[in-house]
Amino acid sequence: MGGRLMYIYETLLAHYGELHWWPARTPYEVMVGAVLTQNTAWGNVGKAIANFGENLSPEKVSDADFAELTEMIRPAGFFNRKARCLKAVTAWYAEYGCDVSNVQKEPFAKLRAELLSVKGVGRETADSILLYAFGFPTFVVDAYTLRLCGRYPIEAGESYEAVKSYFEGNLVRNEKICNSFHALIVTNAKEHCRKKPVCGDCPLAETCGRPTKC
Ligand code: SF4
Repeated sequence: MGGRLMYIYETLLAHYGELHWWPARTPYEVMVGAVLTQNTAWGNVGKAIANFGENLSPEKVSDADFAELTEMIRPAGFFNRKARCLKAVTAWYAEYGCDVSNVQKEPFAKLRAELLSVKGVGRETADSILLYAFGFPTFVVDAYTLRLCGRYPIEAGESYEAVKSYFEGNLVRNEKICNSFHALIVTNAKEHCRKKPVCGDCPLAETCGRPTKC
């Protein structure tokens, strides 16, 4: 494993303990959450998902008329765009019989390309779905990851694909590490590596080189 990256992972793991995402009851709920969380806080996603009660299913979303669906997901914002995207992602899932094991039999690259061709699904959403709903070992790069890479002395690059390749090339690529490392980065970003960093007690402060500039 890559020395620096492994050091970050092990240091955050020792500090925060095992973390495992995603907060959802079913793989389909992960897919819905991954679409709804675009450009909004998670609390709003939770409100939108709660509007489905116990009825959040591919059938419910594909059968709902557009106005009904937009009303249900309204708390998550951008509800017209997200409703169209939800319908399209659900149609993609239906091609596999809405069966997790059918999706998991397919090559990762094919699935990722298919998801990226769905209007409204970007890289972060596609990778979130493939990792958290289907267990593929793909590293999700989000704003928190980019922030860490911009501050900590690693040469991860700046674009989504560059950072993703860097992480995947320097870690043992398995679902558990992709999942927990991302969760650890997000947790540390909320605790310390905020927009205005709180470096004092950050577990990475000793090696970051950033604290003196804060
Ligand atoms: S030391 Fe500061 S800049 Fe570096 S990772 Fe921690 S909070 Fe972020």
